[in-house]
Amino acid sequence: MQQAQTQFKPIIGAELFSQKKLDACTHCGLCLPTCPTYRELGLETDSPRGRLYLMGAAFRQSDPIPLNDDWAKYIYRCLDCRACETACPSGVHFGELIEEARAIYEMNTERPTEQKFWRNVVFKGILPNKDRLDLIFELLWLYQRFGIRWLTRKLGILKLMGKMGEMESMMPEIPNPSLKQTIREFTPAKGVAKYRVGFISGCIMNQVFTEINLATIRVLTENGCDVITPSQQTCCGALHVHNGVRDTALDLARQNIDAFDTDDLDAIIINSAGCGATLKEYEVLMEHHPAYAEKAEAFATKMQDISEFLAEIEMKPPEGEIRRRVTYDEPCHLVHGQQIRLQPRKVLQSIPGLELIELRESEWCCGGAGIYNIVQPELSAQILERKMSYIAETNAEIIATGNPGCILQIQLGVQKRGLPAKVMHPIELLDCSYRGADPLK
Ligand code: SF4
Ligand code: SF4
Repeated sequence: MQQAQTQFKPIIGAELFSQKKLDACTHCGLCLPTCPTYRELGLETDSPRGRLYLMGAAFRQSDPIPLNDDWAKYIYRCLDCRACETACPSGVHFGELIEEARAIYEMNTERPTEQKFWRNVVFKGILPNKDRLDLIFELLWLYQRFGIRWLTRKLGILKLMGKMGEMESMMPEIPNPSLKQTIREFTPAKGVAKYRVGFISGCIMNQVFTEINLATIRVLTENGCDVITPSQQTCCGALHVHNGVRDTALDLARQNIDAFDTDDLDAIIINSAGCGATLKEYEVLMEHHPAYAEKAEAFATKMQDISEFLAEIEMKPPEGEIRRRVTYDEPCHLVHGQQIRLQPRKVLQSIPGLELIELRESEWCCGGAGIYNIVQPELSAQILERKMSYIAETNAEIIATGNPGCILQIQLGVQKRGLPAKVMHPIELLDCSYRGADPLK
């Protein structure tokens, strides 16, 4: 539960809220049928329109409603999936508004212990610090590798650990930490270099999904790219922005902008949809920080999702057959945050032998949504359940999706249902085809 707040004190940071963006809403309600929380809960306050009303009422000049626990409940129950943005005929930037609202709430409230842990320990203490991240994931790797995980499960210790135990059960296999070291600052193109691209390796992506990063770099070099992966880069700040931890997000954005020489690069590539949406919006994040505005714009203009980049260049046709049934689930921050729909499908369809089966409601959120599956476990599980029913209908052997949070959430769904399916990033499948490898072996 969120703590109650100072009812009639002036709201700190209220000027950060864009009333003009809010005024674009005509209250038509066309976004309601696309909202997962509205569908599950049936409450106007859990719909995009209701949440916009709550934001407007809290940040208006005269007679504002208090920023209390009830207000926060509806604002934080939003997945920030941005399906309402796609549906909205008036162009309301819902994601920006909810993120601004959460940032203001964070400035004005004394948060309860669980939220303080996320904000102070995870978002501020761990994600921005590469050494700490490396240490934590090395310890987790040792924990998994030397049978301690097996033992804790066997002895039922996880059940006694409550929420920590639940988080542990969601944790995937951590790759050998030495794998990260194979990613160099400069990886040359295969053959003649046609492009020079930057690569964002990410924070969690690099620790948990190192193989996807390696596959992305291989695909890029296969397509004539010199790949620059600056070691000064850091976490993109997506989780910070989504959860209202704006001061840290700004520091991270500045560090990333400074790490890449945009004039020297044709594009900056990312393989994580959630991070990509935030990186493309650094300009918006910097709107109250004129000293960085121009650099942020130059940076954001160069950002491209890997599938977007491949669709724009003359992609080398893959030749290795993959005779597998594959379905594709669209990450919200790719389809709604970046309006990228066809490009990942194009990558998959280019693979000889691959049978792409369309998934019902592929553009609906899986319930992963950053840390949503940890802080809102019941609602997240309900949303995942529906997604998994549609996935099961496809009888797919491989579920492709391009975001680490979605991969983890769908893996959890696969595990719970006992489905004989593997969750992969589309770029891993393309990489397998280039290498003539079977993705299931
Ligand atoms: S972002 Fe998603 S969950 Fe939030 S209001 Fe919009 S559609 Fe609903
Ligand atoms: S956000 Fe857009 S679709 Fe939803 S009520 Fe407002 S104007 Fe209509």
